[in-house]
Amino acid sequence: MIDSHCHLADEAFSDDVGAVVDRAKAAGVEQALCILDATSDIECARAEQVASLWRALRFAVGIHPHQAEGFANTPDDVGVAVTEVCKRHNRVCAIGEIGLDYHYDFSQPSTQIDVFRRQICLAHDCGLPIVIHTREADEDTINAVQVEGQGAVRGVFHCFTGGMSLARQALDLGFYVSFSGIVTFKRADDIREVAAYVPADRLLVETDSPYLAPVPYRGKRNEPAWVARVVEVVAEVRGESTEAVIEACQDSFARLFGNCEAN
Ligand SMILES: [Zn+2]
Repeated sequence: MIDSHCHLADEAFSDDVGAVVDRAKAAGVEQALCILDATSDIECARAEQVASLWRALRFAVGIHPHQAEGFANTPDDVGVAVTEVCKRHNRVCAIGEIGLDYHYDFSQPSTQIDVFRRQICLAHDCGLPIVIHTREADEDTINAVQVEGQGAVRGVFHCFTGGMSLARQALDLGFYVSFSGIVTFKRADDIREVAAYVPADRLLVETDSPYLAPVPYRGKRNEPAWVARVVEVVAEVRGESTEAVIEACQDSFARLFGNCEAN
């Protein structure tokens, strides 16, 4: 299995990340994409340790929409901030997570859009895929990807919580769709519907740990080992075996993020 999105360098894992990585490997999680917040020196420093514990781990570096406000007056620093962290780590294979979040008020929408667009341009220049976080911002997200991506940037809509219409637009743009533990929640029929719909060659699963633990661990600190629960539920709604879902997600991950092997 592959956990296509986790925050293993987050403070939540600072005490026992070794045990967390061991449990992931024991559960059959062969690889994971660890998201790094480019604005957090502490997190980026912890990434060194996490990388040494798990050779197959890959990284994505980006400025989350919640942190966009910090660049409101210094937009030109966006590219520099992300590039600096990318240079410090090998195995960086994506720019992310980046995007728009209009649900929370942490950053002005106009600032979020600017920071998001600049990072799509950066991904375009570096030839890297992007990991998108979007919430209540469907139209502006698709617009930014279309304009700045120029049809050349690929990526994933991570922790998908949008509707069928957003899923179709994402797929039309050549993007992948990743499902998290939310797919196991009782009131997530609409997301399960999308999980059943996404073609196998665009499918990914993730934990988004330490957040969003799947049922029956809901409310606890999430960890990559529990991506197995996401796989089970996604397989169930698709009427496929867990093996088929695992294989599809492995192929998707390799196609989308496989280019960083040489770094
Ligand atoms: Zn995340």
